Amino acid sequence: MTTQTSTRHQFDYLSQQLDDLKQKGTYFKLRVLEGEQAPLATFDGKKVINLASNNYLGLTTHPKLREAAIEATKKYGVGPGAVRTIAGTMRIHMDLEEKIARFKNVEACVVFQSGFAANAGTVSAILGPEDHIISDELNHASIIDGCRLSKAKIHVFPHKNVAAAEHILQELTSVSGHKLLITDGVFSMDGDIGPLPGLVKAAEAYGAIMMVDDAHASGILGRNGRGTVDHFDLHGRVQVQVGTLSKAIGVLGGYVCGSRDLIEFLYHRARPFLFSTSHPPGVAASCLAAFDVLDQEPERIQNLWDNTNYFKQGLAAAGFNTGMSETPITPVIVGEAKTAYQFSAALFEEGVLATGIGFPTVPEGKARVRTIVTATHTRQELDRALEVFTRVGKRIGILNV
Ligand code: PMP
Repeated sequence: MTTQTSTRHQFDYLSQQLDDLKQKGTYFKLRVLEGEQAPLATFDGKKVINLASNNYLGLTTHPKLREAAIEATKKYGVGPGAVRTIAGTMRIHMDLEEKIARFKNVEACVVFQSGFAANAGTVSAILGPEDHIISDELNHASIIDGCRLSKAKIHVFPHKNVAAAEHILQELTSVSGHKLLITDGVFSMDGDIGPLPGLVKAAEAYGAIMMVDDAHASGILGRNGRGTVDHFDLHGRVQVQVGTLSKAIGVLGGYVCGSRDLIEFLYHRARPFLFSTSHPPGVAASCLAAFDVLDQEPERIQNLWDNTNYFKQGLAAAGFNTGMSETPITPVIVGEAKTAYQFSAALFEEGVLATGIGFPTVPEGKARVRTIVTATHTRQELDRALEVFTRVGKRIGILNV
């Protein structure tokens, strides 16, 4: 009893901040999924059309991935028992890295526990205080954290502004240190595609390392989902390609692709690789199965794009502001964070799950409800979602009646 009271007192400052969030209308409770991650799913006991997952290709419940996880678990157990560099590198981890390297057409690959660990662990390992990072202002939090951990000097350029990035590189020409130019392949809050061809040219002109985070592009853009490097035909010109196994691949993890030396170096110096236990064999096995599915079932990617175009057109026709989106991530921009949360809550009441996102995740005044369609949504589900969006949008004043 005494301990609890004193703990409460020590965390008064946190309670106050939570109260602030409640005042601002930006406090949230975690939505709990009961059952499978699917287009029609049950959250908090309510069946809703799910426009909030990153399960782009519907692989979270694919029979081949399930089977692979079960088989590997039966054969090898549930955990690897150590970090990769001690005793936790199983044959299946090596098989997965080799498979991804072949898929991405690069020399080598290293798999991390998550996409977040891949970005943060890589940037912080390959750069130090004497180096320079030139980074898009909307790059993902895991890139930003990696940049900070590296202690390199960070130069942020306006979103997708190639000329501005080039200008920074030019100004750094006579400054010593390595330079890293870094962008998301697809931006997670706006769904627009990074200007990779222009950035690659700039990196080449000034001898910078080019790095792309393809978390939302792998499995979506390029041949069979090979990502933005393949989409723009820039093979061999991007030195560090990050991808995630947690979104289109449907499982969990992240990876870095590049030269054999880069990967060997990360084996030696990337801290999440060195100091945190590797994936259970079941995770590696289902990821391996997922890459087979990408090759064998290209119609999933086609369905994803057909659904994306259909839904995007529907939102635009209803009069919503969908920003700069070019991919299955389609934001509905509403302005104030409070409105976004209110819109999201009202949509949920009417049977549609779409996440409200406000500052600081997106800039002030650009709050939104983010939608993500998948390959496995039916047209009826998308029509119903559009009908709900329109009706609720009118009711709460986002659309003019
Ligand atoms: N990069 C981007 C652009 C992302 O959106 C995310 C996931 N939110 C990540 C990296 C991290 O991936 P993971 O969920 O596998 O940690």
